[in-house]
Amino acid sequence: MSEDKFDAIIVGAGIAGATAALLLAREGLSVVVVERGNYAGAKNMTGGRLYAHSLEAVIPGFAEAAPVERRVTQERISLMTETGCFTASFLNGRPGAPDRDSYVVLRGAFDRWLMEQAEAAGAMLVSGVLVDDLLTRDGRVCGVIAGEDKMPAEVVILADGANSQLLERAGLRAEPVGPRQMAVGVKEVIEFDDKVVEDRFNLLPGEGLAWLFAGLPSGGKVGGGFLYTNKASVSVGLVATTAEFMKSERTIHELLERFKAHPAIEPLLKGGKLAEYSGHMVAEGGYDMIPRLYNDGVVVIGEAAHLVINLGYTVRGMDLAAGSAQAAAKAVIAAKQAGDFSARSLAAYKTFLDDSFVIKDMKHYRKFPHFMENSRLFNEYPEMLEKICAGIFTVDGRAPASMLSKLMEPMKEVGLLNLMKDGLKGARSL
Ligand SMILES: Cc1cc2nc3c(=O)[nH]c(=O)nc-3n(C[C@H](O)[C@H](O)[C@H](O)COP(=O)(O)OP(=O)(O)OC[C@H]3O[C@@H](n4cnc5c(N)ncnc54)[C@H](O)[C@@H]3O)c2cc1C
Repeated sequence: MSEDKFDAIIVGAGIAGATAALLLAREGLSVVVVERGNYAGAKNMTGGRLYAHSLEAVIPGFAEAAPVERRVTQERISLMTETGCFTASFLNGRPGAPDRDSYVVLRGAFDRWLMEQAEAAGAMLVSGVLVDDLLTRDGRVCGVIAGEDKMPAEVVILADGANSQLLERAGLRAEPVGPRQMAVGVKEVIEFDDKVVEDRFNLLPGEGLAWLFAGLPSGGKVGGGFLYTNKASVSVGLVATTAEFMKSERTIHELLERFKAHPAIEPLLKGGKLAEYSGHMVAEGGYDMIPRLYNDGVVVIGEAAHLVINLGYTVRGMDLAAGSAQAAAKAVIAAKQAGDFSARSLAAYKTFLDDSFVIKDMKHYRKFPHFMENSRLFNEYPEMLEKICAGIFTVDGRAPASMLSKLMEPMKEVGLLNLMKDGLKGARSL
């Protein structure tokens, strides 16, 4: 590796790292991205849905050129029990708009493409290299250490994802992350002919489905399942909060197998070929989990800064990663112009981030992670809906109960007060 001093070293070629590299390189800064995977995206995972707005601000019309799988036009949300599945479905037939659209992506291809845009602008990628530690002088970060190599830089941008090992070394995290604040996710990509995907999920060419589940996928614990349609495959998986999962009697692999075998899912996956299996951590703590964002010679972006919003019906990390990269790049460019990479100068990053949708949205949904810590959402409510639907749709020759009692009996089992309390708490947290 080079002994030259770079303006910026970015650790991690995910969406956060590649976006920051592109923006800095465009402004003529010397920037190198160090990525442990053999190529950008090799180690990266997501459920699947990228909200386009924030990357659109960096590369207008990116979806025309980037390897996106499908534009999401259908939404489904399900509450699933062992024997039932209650689904709300929405078909969005409105014409697409670049800053409002969302796309299903596969990170192996997408991150690689994004990093190529950064390289074309002048950034350098060093792949297959793990950053072991930060180089420091007088308590100030001044580069990275990878094996025997020391790489100096004016500023280090930590974009090393959910499980950042460098955050603490940079003095950005005082408290250890708790098991309630992290979840573990697993995903399979199952391949089909693209015509099969369209027929099974009732999609037009190029259009896609985002489907989220609560209840059975995470074993009735805090978490959820997901299914996204790619061009010629389906991404199916689940996320379970680490604290809950530690108490689970099933392994995460067993949970995934049970989810895939559910009667609502199994027929949709029939005949498919397993192409990819991956696992990854995901930050679930919301706004209260965000660490200190800058120090002398260092800033942290993307999921390394725990910038994720999981609302059950939508999961966002990738648009926040690109948004935080923009705020950090703006601050680093200003620091370069001022010739000052001290914490005082890099504090501008926090100001830009606070002013951006990233922190505004995270603050807005601040209470939601606490709302989710309620086992009724993952057990009693899916069961209640199953009982209500079974009551409404079953005809068995016996005298029918009134519609009111078909609705009220299952609701009483959960407790009307609980329903009111949870409804109010949920509405307030959104
Ligand atoms: C199961 C699951 C489902 C999700 N679903 C969605 C979704 O549908 N939509 C959405 O927007 N978000 C989703 N997310 C969250 C989203 O994937 C992340 O928030 C997003 O990938 C964060 O991007 P990033 O660039 O910050 O980090 P990452 O994509 O994790 O990139 C970090 C990079 O750093 C590299 N790296 C790490 N350590 C080092 C090191 N020491 N040296 C060198 N390189 C290193 C890694 O190899 C990686 O390339 C999901 C996450 C999971 C786990």
